[in-house]
Amino acid sequence: MFQINEVTLQSVIESEEPFIDPLTFFPDATQDVLDAHASWLKPRYQDPETGHLMFCFQSYILRTPHHTILVDSCIGNDKDRPNRPRWHMRNGPFLSDLNNLGVTPADIDFVLCTHLHADHIGWNTRLENGRWVPTFPNARYVMARQEYEFWEQRHSQDPDGPRQIAFADSVLPVVQAGMADFVDGDHAIEDTVSIEPAPGHTPGNVVINVRSGDAGAVLLGDTIHHPIQLKHPDWSCMACEDRAQSAVTRRALIERYADTDTIMAPAHFPDPSPCRFVTEGDAFGFRAIE
Ligand SMILES: [Zn+2]
Repeated sequence: MFQINEVTLQSVIESEEPFIDPLTFFPDATQDVLDAHASWLKPRYQDPETGHLMFCFQSYILRTPHHTILVDSCIGNDKDRPNRPRWHMRNGPFLSDLNNLGVTPADIDFVLCTHLHADHIGWNTRLENGRWVPTFPNARYVMARQEYEFWEQRHSQDPDGPRQIAFADSVLPVVQAGMADFVDGDHAIEDTVSIEPAPGHTPGNVVINVRSGDAGAVLLGDTIHHPIQLKHPDWSCMACEDRAQSAVTRRALIERYADTDTIMAPAHFPDPSPCRFVTEGDAFGFRAIE
């Protein structure tokens, strides 16, 4: 558990695994550069056997004096994800892991979606009697209007694409239940938690800012996927809709927070993901939080 003055930050981890070949994931990566970083990448951040990058898949729970907030709802159970065997028809213990933190689905006041990719929205819904229903019955589900409209349009053009299937089973049921709130630009959830646009990875991608007294954290979603990007902030991934804009957004966030006390909480760094960013030579690095 990480303390941000009056707010606590905890992870609910769905899986951690060798996920993908770095040369596939980062089109700008080269084997020479990866070899130069092998001494710290392996084994924790790059699996020595497969060479694949290690990824954690997790949700974050924020507990403020007023609310319990889930940020990104990870992969989900029972979802049809034929292009991702590890995500396909999962039957994992996410809800009991949540329960072990003392949080039931009914306790969640807000579900904040940094963006609408399948591994960030899965637990928005669960299967009940053959229908997808909102998992968190008392929550408002908050997402950027621009993000919703982007995927709504893709879905109407091509409903069978893998991301559109996820949109249909994990976002549309929440909207149809009247539980979604669409927000524009900067948006305050309450006095300690706010949403800030961070476009590039997706058009309506956002980060979640936490500020309590003199302490702060930024829940970065997929603005940065892997620690190697601190060495190469301009490497955007193959899943970024606008790789150039994603790089601009990433570098600006890293530069804003490097060498500060602000806790940086990416979605996919191996556990424990939250860390602090620092400058290292003409690039950046990260430090564990004591
Ligand atoms: Zn993503």
